[in-house]
Amino acid sequence: MKERKKLYEGKAKVIFSGDKPNTLIQYFKDDATAFNNKKKGIIHGKGVINNLVSELIMEKLSQLNISNHLIKRINMREQLIHKLEMIPLEIVVRNVSAGSLVKRLGVKEGKILSRPLVEFYLKNDEYNDPIVAEEHILIFEWADSHEIEEMISMALRVNDFLIGFLLSQNIRLIDFKLEFGKIWLENEQLIMIGDEISPDNCRLWDVKTNKKLDKDRFREDLGDVDQAYKEVAFRLGVLSKDEFDKAVKNET
Ligand code: C5P
Repeated sequence: MKERKKLYEGKAKVIFSGDKPNTLIQYFKDDATAFNNKKKGIIHGKGVINNLVSELIMEKLSQLNISNHLIKRINMREQLIHKLEMIPLEIVVRNVSAGSLVKRLGVKEGKILSRPLVEFYLKNDEYNDPIVAEEHILIFEWADSHEIEEMISMALRVNDFLIGFLLSQNIRLIDFKLEFGKIWLENEQLIMIGDEISPDNCRLWDVKTNKKLDKDRFREDLGDVDQAYKEVAFRLGVLSKDEFDKAVKNET
């Protein structure tokens, strides 16, 4: 086996080279950051949970023919993924007003939107990931019109699937963020979903109580952060309490 090389360390993940060409390994950390790195902390076992939740969702998306980078999960913290040429945008889909939408427009949190709202943000820490219009994307060539259309259509399909899937576990999908990349497969360029889909990049509320079960508990100092991540993992059935305790204990 080829020796793995660390290629990049992000806020929540480390990227290593994979053992086959055009593959990578992503390692999920417990580090939590918010407000563009201004707030930092550790959510114990978050990496294990995000790895397994993201694997489950990406596998379900593959079954629906929604292309994504997951090849397979390797262990409790790592997955083998396709290497993508990442598009420098974050695509946010919102079903209910929350977060930056509330701060930016002064609308009330919790308003059900009449239809899903798709927004684009430029991935640029130095400028705090600013919201951008399609015109900016085209003019500065961050993506072309076909890629924009494809990202919107895939993001809306993911939204349709996720709403129902999460609702079956009594979870409301308020909003989420996706990242996309490009890959050449058999002479054809494909757009694939990359990164992860987990409680780090979704807003998830309990159906009955509207209790927040996602990273907002960390962002807003709401307490019970570790518990909320575990609650999502247990409801989705990606691992049991015993399996979680064993996975986290085995590391120390
Ligand atoms: O902060 P905002 O309301 O714009 O976030 C919308 C959604 O995108 C939330 O689910 C949040 O977790 C996610 N997000 C993210 N990474 C960012 C910004 C937002 O995962 N850099």
